[in-house]
Parts: sequence; C-alpha cells; structure tokens
Amino acid sequence: MAMKEEGKAIHVLMVAFAAQGHINPMLRLGKRLVSKGLHVTLATTEIAAHRMFKTSSTTTTTATKSISGIHLEFFSDGFPIDYDRKLDLDHYMDTLGKFGPINLSKLIQNLSHDRVPKFSCIISNPFVPWVADVAAEHRIPCAMLWIQPCTLYAIYYRFYNNLNEFPTLENPDMSVELPGLPLLHAHDLPSFVIPSNPFGSLPKLLSQMFQNMKKLKWVLGNSFQELEKDAIDSMAELCPIKPIGPLVPSTLLGEDQNLDIGIDMWIPEETCMEWLNQQQPSSVIYVSFGSIVVLSAKQMESIAIGLKNSNHPFLWVVKPSDYPKKDGAGELPLGFLEETRGRGLIVQWCPQTKVLAHPAIACFLSHCGWNSTLETIVAGVPIIAFPQWTDQPTNAKLILDVLHVGVRLMPNKDGLLSNEEVERCIEEIIAGPRAEEFKKAAAELKQGAREAVAEGGSSDRNIQLFVDEIIGNSC
Ligand code: UDP
Repeated sequence: MAMKEEGKAIHVLMVAFAAQGHINPMLRLGKRLVSKGLHVTLATTEIAAHRMFKTSSTTTTTATKSISGIHLEFFSDGFPIDYDRKLDLDHYMDTLGKFGPINLSKLIQNLSHDRVPKFSCIISNPFVPWVADVAAEHRIPCAMLWIQPCTLYAIYYRFYNNLNEFPTLENPDMSVELPGLPLLHAHDLPSFVIPSNPFGSLPKLLSQMFQNMKKLKWVLGNSFQELEKDAIDSMAELCPIKPIGPLVPSTLLGEDQNLDIGIDMWIPEETCMEWLNQQQPSSVIYVSFGSIVVLSAKQMESIAIGLKNSNHPFLWVVKPSDYPKKDGAGELPLGFLEETRGRGLIVQWCPQTKVLAHPAIACFLSHCGWNSTLETIVAGVPIIAFPQWTDQPTNAKLILDVLHVGVRLMPNKDGLLSNEEVERCIEEIIAGPRAEEFKKAAAELKQGAREAVAEGGSSDRNIQLFVDEIIGNSC
C-alpha cells in the first residue's frame, strides 16, 4: 500500500459524469491505482447508482458501496431520480454545473474525518469542468482523465485557445494542418469545431475546460504512447497529456480476469455468444453504433441491404432509442429480419468486448466511439468506420490514415449512404487487396496495447510516475 512518510494511505477521489463511457474508464484507472497501493473513491451522481445497482454485472455491494476495491459515493445533480435527464441536455448540464459543485463540496467535507485518509488528488473527467474549482477550494491538486483520443485533446486545445486556423462560416471547407496530425479535411474534424453546427452545452463545457487547463496539475489520456505518439509529442511543450491506457476490460488485454471492472447500463444479450460459437472463424461482420447514435431510416436501409448482399453472417446491435424518433429512424427495414434469418442475428445490446474477442469476428462496422475503437484495437479486429458526430470523424481518420486498420463508409455527393458503398467496404476489408495489411496492422496494435499496460510498459510507467508525484506532493 502506497504510504506517505507518516504511514497514512494515499487517497484519490475520482469524479465522473454519470455515463457508462465516462465511469468505465475511470473505474479501470481506479483499479490500476488500487493495484499500486492507493486508496480510491469514485464519486458520481445518484442517477448512476440507480442504474448501476439495477443492471451491473460486476460484483457490487450496495451496503458497503464498493466495486472491486473502489469505494463509491453519490451526490445529487439537482434533479429527482425519476426526472428524464435526456429531455433537455442543455438545461440538464446547466443545472448540474450549478448544483454539482455545491453537492460535491459537501461530500468532500463529509468524507473528511479521521477514519478516511484525506484526499491527495482529485481526478475529474471532461463534462464536469467545475470539479477543478471544487478541488482548488479544498486545496487538493487536480488531474483530469481525458477519455477521447489524445489527437482530439490536441485539436480542442488548439481550437479553444485560438492557436490555429479552423473552418469558419465563410470558409467552411478549409483543411486544417496541425503539428503531429495528418491533414484534417472538414469531414475529419470533430463536429464541435464545425462552425455551422448549433452551439450546445457540450462544446460550451469543452471550451470552459480547455481555456482553464491551468487549474489542472496532470492530464491523463485513455490511449497509449505507441498508438498516438506524434499527437502526444505535439502537446509536450503546450500542455502535456500522459497516456495511461487503454482502459478496456483486462481480459481483452490478456490480463488477470480478477482485474476486470466495469458497469453495463443495459443488460447484454449473452445468447449471441452461442450463436457466434456456431459461425466460421473470421466470418462475421459485427455492427454497432454505440449507446447514443440513432441512424436515419435511409442509413439503416443501406446498411441492411449491404449486409444482405454481402452474403456474410452478421451480428447487429439495434438498440432502441432513448429519445422519441420519427420517420423510421433507428429501425430495421420491413421484412429484413425474415429475409436474413439464419444468417444474421439482431440484438438490442451485446457483451461487446466478448464479441470482439471471439474468433468468428471478421470486422466491426462501427460509429467509432473511442471506447469501441480502443476495444477493437485491443481485440486486433479491422474496422469499417461510419462516424456520425463529436470525436468520431477524427477517430475514423486515425483508424484509416494513422493506424491503417480500416476503411470508411462515405456518403455520396448528396450526403446519402448507398448500399453499394456498404458492400464495397465489406468486400475491401474482408477480401480486398489490403485485407491482409489491415489484419497485420490490427494484430500489431493488439500486441502494442498489451505491452503498454504490462509491468514496465509505457502506460504502466506513466501511471507509476503519476502515483509517485501524488505521493511526493502529499508528503
Ligand atoms: N457496448 C456494449 N454493448 C453493445 C454496444 C456497445 O457493451 O451492444 C459498449 C461498448 O463496449 C463500449 C460502449 O458501449 O464500451 C460504447 O462506447 P463508445 O465510446 O464506443 O460509444 P458511445 O456509446 O459513447 O457513443
């Protein structure tokens, strides 16, 4: 157990926005800090407790409020539990920004008693920039775990601090040239920096955060040095980011299953694993667009026809939308299920990391959310990228032009996706002239990820340096 000189345990408080894609990387970093002897508490808002204890597959004890050695605490976001938080995101984020700091501050005060070691560091994450202010108020050094690629960190830092030129309303199609990154065309840029996009609460929060980086003592990234070396190096002089990932389930990294930690906000349909067991090796196209994206009826139709015509088996996650949708968005075309019965399986939510690690999987048709991208890289699976918004277009650029592990579905000149394009990409990734190249690059990244997190690897060393600095700081 890491100790200060006088023999007291070092205690770290992590504060996460209550979404699965934010809590899981935090828990996984927490677990690595625990394995290095630190005492870790994760605080998030009460709505997460409500969802976690109802559907979590990881052993959780509500009585002791801990999950695999990490103590859990919950604070109010200012809304009653049964309030529909998706109704108005801007209103929700504004209210969270008002009540979150007050309630987190009270929580820190309540936890500051003799039986609990004082916090030596607070680790925040992106949509809760006010955590750095609460940390300063309590005189606790603050770190941030950036949960998108370091490439995005570099782009946003430069964009929100006006360090480089980005597209404007007058010049919306300009390409962006930044140190350490490939040339970014407008369709490669994160949607939040596109001037024609409506300005909502999420870019506002990012802007606040990137203009206030001085409040942070450390920035940690859910990536690894070998994956994004040039982007990481490009920030070394400006505002360094230390990659400590990939923060994916340990079993995917070939590590001890006991290290596995994570929550599922939805219940996975495990029966798809039996179906995968019956398929040929490297034959199945896995299709999923994550937890938020809902495709238009036309996009759904083109993907459905493309899959049907490809003649490959497929597993497609079609998650019912959390928001009311019209015009058939997010729905399968009529008759598709019957026409492809026996060759395709549709589920509402699957155990994705187990699916990706299954030998029957040939490729992943993905929206390129960063968690999915990292999981696919660690599983060594080639990707068909179909990015929709936020960091996803830039993640697709990374997948294609930096990592060389995938192809991208491009809409035609009218902005529509055709089924021929879907068929072309499936053919290219599975049987095209570069198919072996994709597999080889994916296998190398899988190996690189394992080496980064192993003892003495680049991410392990960065975590150890971080731990040493926290200890040194609190002496
Ligand atoms: N996921 C899952 N089952 C599914 C689809 C997705 O467990 O059927 C998980 C996936 O493993 C990943 C997360 O949901 O960890 C999606 O996160 P990502 O950042 O890729 O996308 P988002 O949902 O935030 O758009």
